[in-house]
Amino acid sequence: MRTTVLDRAGVAAGASWGNAGMLNPTLTVPLAEPGTLRAGLQGVLDPSSSITVPPQADMRLWRFLLQFARHSRRSRWRRSMQIFNELNRRSLDAYAHLTESGVTAPVKHRPLISAATSPAGLAPLVREIEEVVAVGGSARYEQIGSDELHAMEPALSDRVEAGLLLHDQGYIDPPDYIAALADAVRARGARIVEDFDVSRVRDGGEAGVVLLSPAGHELHADAAVIATGAWLNTLARPYGVRQVVQAGRGYSFTVRPDPIPRHPVHLPSQHLACNPLHDRFRITGTMELRDPDSPAEPRRIEAMVAAARPMFATVDWEARREEWVGSRPCTPDGLPLVGPTTSPRVHITGGHGMWGMVLGPVTGRLSADLITGVPVPAWASALNPLR
Ligand SMILES: Cc1cc2nc3c(=O)[nH]c(=O)nc-3n(C[C@H](O)[C@H](O)[C@H](O)COP(=O)(O)OP(=O)(O)OC[C@H]3O[C@@H](n4cnc5c(N)ncnc54)[C@H](O)[C@@H]3O)c2cc1C
Repeated sequence: MRTTVLDRAGVAAGASWGNAGMLNPTLTVPLAEPGTLRAGLQGVLDPSSSITVPPQADMRLWRFLLQFARHSRRSRWRRSMQIFNELNRRSLDAYAHLTESGVTAPVKHRPLISAATSPAGLAPLVREIEEVVAVGGSARYEQIGSDELHAMEPALSDRVEAGLLLHDQGYIDPPDYIAALADAVRARGARIVEDFDVSRVRDGGEAGVVLLSPAGHELHADAAVIATGAWLNTLARPYGVRQVVQAGRGYSFTVRPDPIPRHPVHLPSQHLACNPLHDRFRITGTMELRDPDSPAEPRRIEAMVAAARPMFATVDWEARREEWVGSRPCTPDGLPLVGPTTSPRVHITGGHGMWGMVLGPVTGRLSADLITGVPVPAWASALNPLR
């Protein structure tokens, strides 16, 4: 089978470039839950909140919010969590498989440090991990005190007094990793075509599909996978996909502390995830439910700097670079969309929300199996894009 990847910009033009690169199966949970709903409601009133909703939401965003609220019940969270458990327990193996298949960028495996100014700041995280374990997830973690924490990670400031080490997780340098993935895809004989804006996917029945661009280009294929991130609805709607894929915009920037932290650091009270890339330190955060194409809001970066500044000792926050905004493709029930649509020739792989990096290789595998007729496990039907 020959594969062609089309992108209207280039490799990693969307959320896959500027994200935190954390591969944390233990913390990969449905976004829809009572705590997120509460934070979202606060965000309508407080523009510096970690989750923000524009006061003038359009009809599409209202539909998303109403469905999200319906899925935010604890019982629904538990049901979705069981599907996440299936995905999570396969996620790091799927990365190992990519390494064996020729992706040269490393997946690193130091423990994730969650840090707070007091043990109370870690309590909600511990509760969440216990809930994950209660529905069959796995977690190997330990709480550590200030001395051990600072010995492990000298870049943390003196205000940080409580730590939680989460083992059996991974992290990547997203720009490097995605570039290496693209190289491996090309080396295995696939074609990557940049600057191809797909305006329509036409199903020609037994003759296959045609992908059309506004510039008049056409690509003919036996089958197409729509994987257009937060823009998924535009091409997928004619094929029966009713789930709203809402942009949950996040921001990131990089700094160069000396020394660069050796571990990925999660600041649960500040809602920030910070990742050592090979030569810099990336800070990521915020969830802005807005149009993916609206301009970046500099005050979100300022709010992130204000939250992160007290937590690290050696950062020149004014020398930050690579300020970036990107869109998490969020579904109302938090589950990805993977599988065929009303046409057996048009498939969807998307809607991973906050977890596209950790889950992408697993759902990519499922997607390939569904297209080529390899049997998939029964739980994968929960990801049906027509649900
Ligand atoms: C701040 C932030 C931090 C994050 N941290 C993590 C993390 O630590 N771990 C984790 O697992 N996940 C994380 N995520 C989530 C993760 O980045 C996303 O879930 C994932 O990147 C989505 O991948 P995607 O391929 O679906 O979308 P994208 O990466 O957005 O790719 C979509 C692509 O489709 C192209 N496209 C769109 N429309 C068209 C069209 N009509 N024709 C042609 N091309 C088109 C775009 O150009 C783009 O390249 C984070 C996200 C953000 C924003």
